[in-house]
Amino acid sequence: MSTTSPVTSLTVLHGVPVVPGVQCAPVIRPGRLPVPDVSGPDIEESQRPAEASRFTAAAATVATRLRERAAHATGAASEVLAATAGLAQDRAWLGAAEKRINAGAPAVRAVCEAVDQFVDLFTQLGGLMAERVTDLRDIRDRVVAELSGLPEPGVPLPDVPSILCAEDLAPADTAGLDPALVVGLATTLGGPTSHTAIIARQLGIPCVVAIDGLDDVPAGTTVLLDGTSGTLTVDPDPDVAAAVVAAAEREAALARQWTGPGATADGHTVAVLANVQDGAAARAARETPAEGVGLFRTELCFLNRDTEPTVDEQASIYGEVLDAFAGHKVVIRTLDAGSDKPLKFVGHPDEANPALGVRGIRIAEGNPELLERQLEAIAGAAQATGNQPWVMAPMIATAAEAANFATRARAYGLTPGVMIEVPAAALLADKILEHVDFLSIGTNDLAQYTMAADRMSADLATLTDPWQPAVLALVAMAVRAGVAVGKPVGVCGEAAADPLLACVLVGLGVTSLSSASAAIPGVGAKLAQVTLQQCRDAADAVLATATAAEARAAAQALLS
Ligand code: PEP
Ligand code: MG
Repeated sequence: MSTTSPVTSLTVLHGVPVVPGVQCAPVIRPGRLPVPDVSGPDIEESQRPAEASRFTAAAATVATRLRERAAHATGAASEVLAATAGLAQDRAWLGAAEKRINAGAPAVRAVCEAVDQFVDLFTQLGGLMAERVTDLRDIRDRVVAELSGLPEPGVPLPDVPSILCAEDLAPADTAGLDPALVVGLATTLGGPTSHTAIIARQLGIPCVVAIDGLDDVPAGTTVLLDGTSGTLTVDPDPDVAAAVVAAAEREAALARQWTGPGATADGHTVAVLANVQDGAAARAARETPAEGVGLFRTELCFLNRDTEPTVDEQASIYGEVLDAFAGHKVVIRTLDAGSDKPLKFVGHPDEANPALGVRGIRIAEGNPELLERQLEAIAGAAQATGNQPWVMAPMIATAAEAANFATRARAYGLTPGVMIEVPAAALLADKILEHVDFLSIGTNDLAQYTMAADRMSADLATLTDPWQPAVLALVAMAVRAGVAVGKPVGVCGEAAADPLLACVLVGLGVTSLSSASAAIPGVGAKLAQVTLQQCRDAADAVLATATAAEARAAAQALLS
């Protein structure tokens, strides 16, 4: 979908909010390579070895530069740059380019064709792989620039604090940015898990992705970027912009001062927890006021694995997270493989529609031993660390699946719960709760399946907005079922990272909020400013609305 009306002053463009915060500044755009000329004739056979060496040297130079930048960067930026350097030296695409050069293609054409081949492959694989397409194209541009004697493409160094806008940003564009000069990120493409989002979170600068119409906003235009509401206002009224930025700065200051634990202004406690994907993330989360881990996405530990990790290996990985939060709550989710997170060793069937296919707990149907071994490893980690985790199954659709999972988990002495991500599970949450000890609502998938809209699709981002009243009605239903029997119901999807929505969730009755570490202070600080009654009133008001925008506005009116 693209805008049909021209971009003029005060035009408000909408995207997907990824990192909260508000900034008003001029737009800068990354320099792009001119479209490479690939029309030249084939090269003589005698020249081909030299051309192949030229190509190998160019790819190696690009990788070395990226590695050097990785060494000077820290945290996620360093990891992202190192991963891109690795991709620049990936045998598969280097081999594909060399093969073309040996068949007569000049190096620039060989690079473009080889990258196109892998772009097609990654796009077909979809999900997280599709998001790496931007990285591949970035490598292509850098290698082509090197081969053509052109300066490396990338982000210009601005003279004044600026907002970096682009179709999409490659990791090497964003890693190592100075947050004092680049104060916000906005992209036309990208999703909440894209590299742009990851880097923006690390830099702590507001970020909005999937903005419809952003390509029409030229460099130099002043824009107001709101990473909380997901909007970008072109040429805003300067006084209004200054007031909005000042209010956001006050919120940010409160967030910085907030030290936990999670509670409303009148003392109603709500556990504020972290989502993590490995020991390193858990240790980083421990540095925040997070009171525990509400979602450990175990499948993310094994995305690069060809073979299943042994029980001992798994136990040691899980143990790292349990150790990081010794004496605190940790909820481990069993493998949510499939769809956008395929694991090679699971042997996923070839499916036309993997998001509706054999993913999450459904894998255990055909491969029960995989789940058994994971539960054994979790129990082993619990014993080794002395920290007793809760375990939960992803993608539960029926009470029978929940009962089966609970029986297996209890056999290992583990406390079982399930995720509520499928509308069927929300509708029958009371029946599911007869078998398990807690629920955790995954609003990312619940929104995807409720709205029948791919969560990775930028075009459908307004449908997968967790403020959609239909999604919140299902959340309310699941929470009511938990309240009725006195069992905890948490939220661990992106909804729990939005301070305003988090208050609404508390008003609905959720007992814990789990989100990316970076979002925790903002959520905790917001909750500390409102009473439980305000949260309940906001929840009632939101449930009476018909659109996501009305829901947001209703909550804003009662909670600000
Ligand atoms: C969710 O679906 O909301 C969730 C937390 O799980 P994931 O994002 O890992 O699918
Ligand atoms: Mg999910």
